[in-house]
Amino acid sequence: MKILVPVKRVVDYNVKVRVKSDGTGVETAGVKMSMNPFDEIGVEEAVRLKEKGVATEIVAVSLGVAACAETIRTALAMGADRGILVETDVDLQPLAVAKLLAAIAVKEQPGLIILGKQAIDDDMSATGPMLAALLGWAQGTFASKVTVDGANLTVTREVDGGLETVTLTLPAIITTDLRLNEPRYASLPNIMKARKKPIETVKPADLGVDPTPRLTVIKVDEPPKRQAGVKVGSVAELVAKLKNEAKVI
Ligand code: AMP
Repeated sequence: MKILVPVKRVVDYNVKVRVKSDGTGVETAGVKMSMNPFDEIGVEEAVRLKEKGVATEIVAVSLGVAACAETIRTALAMGADRGILVETDVDLQPLAVAKLLAAIAVKEQPGLIILGKQAIDDDMSATGPMLAALLGWAQGTFASKVTVDGANLTVTREVDGGLETVTLTLPAIITTDLRLNEPRYASLPNIMKARKKPIETVKPADLGVDPTPRLTVIKVDEPPKRQAGVKVGSVAELVAKLKNEAKVI
C-alpha cells in the first residue's frame, strides 16, 4: 500500500508569532520555519506502517513556495521514499490544498492519506475532511491509534467525551492527533541519504487546479495583553471579589 503524507511548512512552534505591522498576516520573514508538528506525527505513523510491512511506499507532499522542498527533505530523512512539491507563490487556503491533494491522489492512487488534524499557523483543521469529501473516501479524524487489517482500518478518535473507535474501508483519510505517536529525530546518515531521494516539482496548473484564494482576510490582530492577577488573603475575599467586582457569581 502506498501512503501519501501532506507536510506543511509553518512557523516553528517554538517561535513567538508576531503580527505584521500592517495587520495583513503573521510575520514570516526571517522567522524559523519547520514541519507542522501534526505532520511529523503523520510521517512517523506512515514510517511505522512501512516498518510493519503494511505500507510499501511513502510519498511526502508539500504545497507552497520553493522552500517547502526543505520540509519534504525532513520527511525523507524521517523515512519517506520520495516527495512531490506543488510549487506556487499563491497563499493557499484549505479548499485549494484539498483540490490539489485530490488531483495528486487520483494520479498516485494511495491506499491511505495521513494529514495533520490542523496546521498550527492558521488552525483551519479543514483540509483532511475537505479532501475526504472531494475524493468520496472514508475518514478517521483526530486519530490517537491506527491499526490496518487487510482492507480495513481501525481508528481510535479523540472526541470531547473520551475515545471513539471507527472502522473504515480503504482507501481512506486519517488526520493525526497529538497522542498518536512520538515522532523520531532523523539520524545524520538518514539526513545524508535523504539528499539523494527524488522530489518531483509540479505547478497547480499541471494538476488542473486554480488555487486563487476564495476567502479574504480582513485583519489580523495580536490577542489582548493579559492583565496582571491579584493575590487575595482569604476565600471570603475571593468570593466577595467574584461577586462584586467580576460579577460572575
Ligand atoms: P489545516 O486544514 O490548514 O489546519 O491543515 C491540516 C493538514 O492539512 C495539515 O496538517 C497538513 O497535513 C495538510 N496541509 C494543509 N496545508 C498544506 C500545505 N500547504 N502543504 C502540505 N500539507 C498541507
